[in-house]
Amino acid sequence: MKRVLIATFVYTFLFWSCDTDNLEYQIPQEEQRVDLGVDPSELDRMAENTVGRQCHSMNVLARQLKENSGMLKRIQNIESHTRIFEKKPDGVGNGGGDNGGGDSIPDNMGTITIPVYVHVLYSTSQENISSFQINSQIAVLNNDFRKSNSDANQVPSEFIGLAADSEVEFVLAGVTRKISPNTSWGTNDAMKYAFNGGVDVITPETHLNIWVCNIGGGILGYAQFPGGSASTDGVVISPQYFGSQGYVSAPFNKGRTATHEVGHYLNLRHIWGDGRCKKDDFVSDTPSSDGPNYGCPSYPTVNCRTNDMTMNYMDYTDDACMYMFSEGQKVRMRALFGVGGVRESMLN
Ligand SMILES: [Zn+2]
Repeated sequence: MKRVLIATFVYTFLFWSCDTDNLEYQIPQEEQRVDLGVDPSELDRMAENTVGRQCHSMNVLARQLKENSGMLKRIQNIESHTRIFEKKPDGVGNGGGDNGGGDSIPDNMGTITIPVYVHVLYSTSQENISSFQINSQIAVLNNDFRKSNSDANQVPSEFIGLAADSEVEFVLAGVTRKISPNTSWGTNDAMKYAFNGGVDVITPETHLNIWVCNIGGGILGYAQFPGGSASTDGVVISPQYFGSQGYVSAPFNKGRTATHEVGHYLNLRHIWGDGRCKKDDFVSDTPSSDGPNYGCPSYPTVNCRTNDMTMNYMDYTDDACMYMFSEGQKVRMRALFGVGGVRESMLN
């Protein structure tokens, strides 16, 4: 999608701060109105869909931005840091650079391994998912982020050169289990606090925390974007959409909800940019799109005069029909782990 969008409107509850004095990298004047917030009308448009994939990460971002006055500034800083990293992933930046495929510069970080805590909150025995099911999810994450997924060969030739091995791996660090009378937890982060009957986050500076609990309302999952509070850092997924074995429900039974939500956790936006054609996902090698795709679209699906990358994990397609991250998304995710990045402390 087009790398920079000059925002043409101001949302009712967000204002772009021009106070960028403390940034290491100054966003050029013409780029300062890049829209990092959430378009309420887009949330309304997404709410019209009650059948296909439902991710509430942008809704949660909208809520957190309202509740936390410092969050937008932190997101701005992360975006500025990402821009630097995209130009100089190796700290030098020899040979130009781009946040898209083709001429990418190695960042010299090698494979990044993220230890994962899984918190299972259940009100039925089915929701108390097995270790087998949890391990199946870890396996899917590893396959998808390493491009060793068995369906990677379905990427159309147009996008083959953009399909990325993100060189991010996941290892299960521990599982907590807790019974609860709650049959649905909603999206207000209640599951992340022991005093609410949930489970407190464990060392979010070094670990990915995933809460597996029934969200309700047909919502598959949601993630907190980088820049949010440490106490709620992580991903939430309903048990029937977690993993690829056990208590899983088609067509979201191949573990791709976690792949998608961990993508958000690593700062990826939805591939259509959560808006119409001109709204950006801040990744240059993903085509513009007018909105999400659902189900299993045929190829090519044309939007905004280009073929949609419907098979990208950050679209809304069914699990069986998403099978790639792009090179630009890879760089954007890995920027978080670079020097001065918000997830740099995870590297060791
Ligand atoms: Zn999402």
